[in-house]
Amino acid sequence: MKQLTFILLFIPLIGCKQNSKSEFIALGSNKSSIQERTKLNNNNVLKYVKYKSDVVVLTNATVFDGKGNPAKENQTLIVENGYFQAIGQSSEINIPKGATIIDLKGKTVIPGIVGVHNHLHIPGFPFVGETASKLYLASGVTTIQTCGSASPKQEIELSKKIEQGKFIGPNIITSGPYFTGKGGNPNMIIPRNENHIKDTIQYWTEKGVRWFKVYRHITPSDLEVIIKEAHKRNAKVTGHLCSITFEQATNFGIDGIEHGLNSTSDFRKNKTFGICDGSREYIDELDIKSEEVKRLQQLMIDSNVFLTSTLAIYESSIPNRAFADERALKIMSPFLKSQYLERRNDFDNQKSSDNVRESRLKRIMEFEYQFFKMGGTLTAGVDAGRHVLPGFGDQRNFELLKEAGFTSEEAIKIMTSNGAEVLSNSEIGVIENGKKADFVVINGDIKENIRNVELVFKDGYGYDPKLILEELNGKFGE
Ligand SMILES: [Zn+2]
Repeated sequence: MKQLTFILLFIPLIGCKQNSKSEFIALGSNKSSIQERTKLNNNNVLKYVKYKSDVVVLTNATVFDGKGNPAKENQTLIVENGYFQAIGQSSEINIPKGATIIDLKGKTVIPGIVGVHNHLHIPGFPFVGETASKLYLASGVTTIQTCGSASPKQEIELSKKIEQGKFIGPNIITSGPYFTGKGGNPNMIIPRNENHIKDTIQYWTEKGVRWFKVYRHITPSDLEVIIKEAHKRNAKVTGHLCSITFEQATNFGIDGIEHGLNSTSDFRKNKTFGICDGSREYIDELDIKSEEVKRLQQLMIDSNVFLTSTLAIYESSIPNRAFADERALKIMSPFLKSQYLERRNDFDNQKSSDNVRESRLKRIMEFEYQFFKMGGTLTAGVDAGRHVLPGFGDQRNFELLKEAGFTSEEAIKIMTSNGAEVLSNSEIGVIENGKKADFVVINGDIKENIRNVELVFKDGYGYDPKLILEELNGKFGE
């Protein structure tokens, strides 16, 4: 691409894949809001920014496009006002005069991670949004869907502050409060009647919420009403299921299912309709390659139901895998760290290693791999908790997806453009001309290590993760 034109195409914020279930319009940034924001010069944001010029040129990079195509080497990327303006072989791209040039030899570029099960709460803490946001951004996560909120008002406020350039973090697609049934978590909404559901969905959608999550004890009749009301109001519904099978939820018109195989009850013998009961032992006998499993996955695919992988949090419950890395130990509050050390101590004192959980992890991986290969939309999210921290856990997901058999290109697609697809946002999740330049620079080859995040570009700014992380020591979960 020899000829440079500095005219940016306006890309409408409409889904790349039309969802027949709801006419869903993504909320988010556009070029003019980026330009307005960069005029703000807010020091809460600027103190973490390393690059802030209108035109930034990155040379000699290895680029993963987020669409699953093989990585390309020696690429030059021209970014103007937060959008990709040209991408191609370094030898074929003219570099505009006056641009800031960054040599990325030996470095990898991927789209900003789009995490779709990325809470702003953790067990025991209904809102950790301000530290979580910084952790997400510093780890290369530039957009999150919070997938259930324990404090929706605070989420919405933080999302607006970030949108307005007053605070740093990923773009936050907020959720309403969880819906569940009797026997469920008391922090969640247990619908009293149909009107209670209607009023709740109306209230939160009027505040800008576009996602609702149902939890393990939801009743079939409540789920039907929730889906109908949410779709009427241009919102989506996703579930951590148990009382309801994947098949039933799919037939009700749910948009997405969380945690993969770990929340299925479809193949449990003697399951009571609409009741969350029984153990998960049946999973250990299940043949993932069997026709009944494939039939279910095909139904989800045909019905455009996405599946979200949360491998990192599952791994954290397996004794011989549940180790916090040094980075996480630094960032955890003394309280979280002591909880972790206690848990670790208990694990170490258990004489027998937990092979059941280990082999269950393998099955969860196999289920997700098969779903993806059959053409399903597999997404990922951190579901932070225990020693799995926002952002760091998203990076761990990449490593675990590779353990599940995905190539680096496929794992990145799952964590970027697939997330963007379910958010109906065709502007993000890919490295492509005309798209929003939210991307991550990783020092070295990402196939070897995703954790060395060197720069994170979002909304026209290039952030330095080191500056963000160094002030978070001991701060997460205090
Ligand atoms: Zn969760």
